[in-house]
Amino acid sequence: MSNASFIVVANRLPVDAVVDEEGNKTWRRSPGGLVTALEPVLQANRGTWIGWAGIAGAAPEPFESDGVTLLPVELSENEVLRYYEGFSNASLWPLYHDAVEPRVFRRSWWKSYYEVNERFAEVCASEAAPGATVWVQDYQLQLVPGMLRERRPDLRIGFFLHIPFPPVELFMQLPHRMEILKGLLGADLVGFQRPLAAQNFLALTRHLLGYRPRGHYVTVDDRLVRADAFPISIDTAANEEVAGTERVRQRAKEIRAELGEPETIILGVDRLDYTKGIERRLKAFRELLEDGRLTVPKTVMIQVATPSRERVDQYIALRERVEREVGRINGEYGVVGLPAVHYLHQSFDRYELAALYQAADVMAVTPLRDGMNLVAKEYVASQVDNRGALVLSEFAGAAGDLRQAFLVNPHDLTDLKDGFVTAANATADDKMKRMRAMRRYLRKHDVSRWARSFLTALGVPERSAAYNPGS
Ligand code: ADP
Repeated sequence: MSNASFIVVANRLPVDAVVDEEGNKTWRRSPGGLVTALEPVLQANRGTWIGWAGIAGAAPEPFESDGVTLLPVELSENEVLRYYEGFSNASLWPLYHDAVEPRVFRRSWWKSYYEVNERFAEVCASEAAPGATVWVQDYQLQLVPGMLRERRPDLRIGFFLHIPFPPVELFMQLPHRMEILKGLLGADLVGFQRPLAAQNFLALTRHLLGYRPRGHYVTVDDRLVRADAFPISIDTAANEEVAGTERVRQRAKEIRAELGEPETIILGVDRLDYTKGIERRLKAFRELLEDGRLTVPKTVMIQVATPSRERVDQYIALRERVEREVGRINGEYGVVGLPAVHYLHQSFDRYELAALYQAADVMAVTPLRDGMNLVAKEYVASQVDNRGALVLSEFAGAAGDLRQAFLVNPHDLTDLKDGFVTAANATADDKMKRMRAMRRYLRKHDVSRWARSFLTALGVPERSAAYNPGS
């Protein structure tokens, strides 16, 4: 047994492999909100992060990075296909997102999911100090809390689901639903993005196991399990700082100039994922051009579609459909040198992303379903002049936090179209009031506060260094 008193278990380690000029592989920290939020807790507690390094085959040796021990777990090529791309991303992901795309089940995928979860649980069980706190992350590892409790009942175990938790009727479709539910119930605290997700989970314990939840609690073998909402957020100060730099301001101006100084730039920034509603958004934009309610080149759209899960069938098909639609819109409404939609299937650094956010008059965040959607929050934090307008889907967790956005139902095309027009035509004063209120909210509700409130609810003692991440 090792002496780690605080452990994060996540599918991915917060590192990327980089190969230098001599062909040697080294590791580079990969930034991200979760890492930012958890790093201070990990550092203060000589913490350990357990996860996959992102490359199939033999795992690298454990290594230290900025006071945190990174402990890689090995995944074979077959496991990447079955546990990760299969059960996690082709079974669970669509089902948990209201089955907006049909889910696929294969028995071999489940077997692999089980085995990989067991491997993570075993590594964690042998690393944790007596009475340690373990925080398990997300849908790829739902069996880990239960497996860990069996092996190490002395641990304090938290679990956080970053994606939505479906209503009972949908969850019931899942093969091995009972094992998954029991896996989650191995935790002392199960955290969700929204209160409705926690309610779905508690209702499921009643439906599948006949438990009687009281308030946020349910009793499991004489143990109290709490299910509650902890909406995740961004590192607001860091986003504001980047957005306020001269470099970003200049680049935003440049982008507007390169687009021919349009009156309205509509921006979408999403992983190329069917939950994000990119197709419906494009359709809404095409119809608005067709109706003459918007015109090119007064209005242009930029759609950044970050490459994602490129070997999964549904993602390959989605890319084809999106690119066909972009081609169709540009064919019908573009003019030479001025396309109606600028489509970018690329990743950008945070300065370029912030410049795009700042250049945009209307930000279109219109997922059909989304656990939270950090892009919406990043956009708001980047509006240092309080001038943009956020069109936000009611089906994104962020709609619970960003109440002053132009909220739309993306399943209803008329509502979606009206939302774009209303946001594009809103007065500067109206937009400023909305943006100010949302920025104020995000300054207070940032990702450190999220981590702090989860850990407090998990009962991490107040005098522990872990109590005060990020402050
Ligand atoms: P999801 O986790 O489903 O991808 P979120 O909106 O919650 O959706 O988070 C996406 C994250 O990825 C954001 O932090 C955003 O800044 C980042 N991101 C999205 N597109 C790009 C891109 N093209 N280049 C770099 N970062 C991106």
